[in-house]
Amino acid sequence: MCITAKNLSKIYGSGENRVVALDKAYLEIVSGDFISIMGPSGSGKSTLLHLLSGLDSPTLGSLSYDGKDIYGLSDRELSAFRRRKIGFIFQQFNLLPVLTARENIIMPLLLDHKKPDEGYLKELAGLLGIENRLTHLPHELSGGQQQRVAIARALIAKPEVIFADEPTGNLDSKNGSEVMEMLRTVHERMGRTLVIITHDSKIARMAQRQFLIVDGVLTEVEV
Ligand code: ADP
Ligand code: MG
Repeated sequence: MCITAKNLSKIYGSGENRVVALDKAYLEIVSGDFISIMGPSGSGKSTLLHLLSGLDSPTLGSLSYDGKDIYGLSDRELSAFRRRKIGFIFQQFNLLPVLTARENIIMPLLLDHKKPDEGYLKELAGLLGIENRLTHLPHELSGGQQQRVAIARALIAKPEVIFADEPTGNLDSKNGSEVMEMLRTVHERMGRTLVIITHDSKIARMAQRQFLIVDGVLTEVEV
């Protein structure tokens, strides 16, 4: 798999309210990459991740997955594409409060009319240390456990790439470190492509390729 972003730009508002959230970003992501993107608050990190994952569309520029232009897809096609190919992890976990951990994890499959692979679900739950939390509701779980459930949900459809937007931003340092270790394990053991946004330089340095974004301008850092 190869994700290619060219000249990707997002401009909000006009006149005095014009904000260039992302300014002509070029980026190529290949299978097995572990990429970090670091930058201060308001620098365009979430904007970039939303564009790369097709959650939002750009003002200018193109994005392709294996040569296929994904902004050319219809809304329905794009939703299906995202469910199958992309896992997304949010800072706020975004679990549905009335569903158990297990139900939250398998939700992307249910939306796609697919049955969960029970063996794989068990493997994921074991890897993430949540095997005896699967019948709990989100409010019965700690923040770190909720984020692990969200990681399992991002992985359940065996996506080709996982985007994580400040996944440790709502966690204390101990839980944050644990969640990062798990993401690193997911990358190493499952060979998943991982793109992670952070403003923690320690986390950014865990990645093989490191990018900086300042005022919407993305640059790769030599490591
Ligand atoms: P980060 O994730 O790095 O904190 P964002 O990508 O969320 O930054 O935002 C980048 C810039 O774009 C900020 O100046 C923000 O205020 C602006 N922005 C983000 N979303 C919107 C929106 N929906 N409407 C107007 N401005 C926005
Ligand atoms: Mg953000």
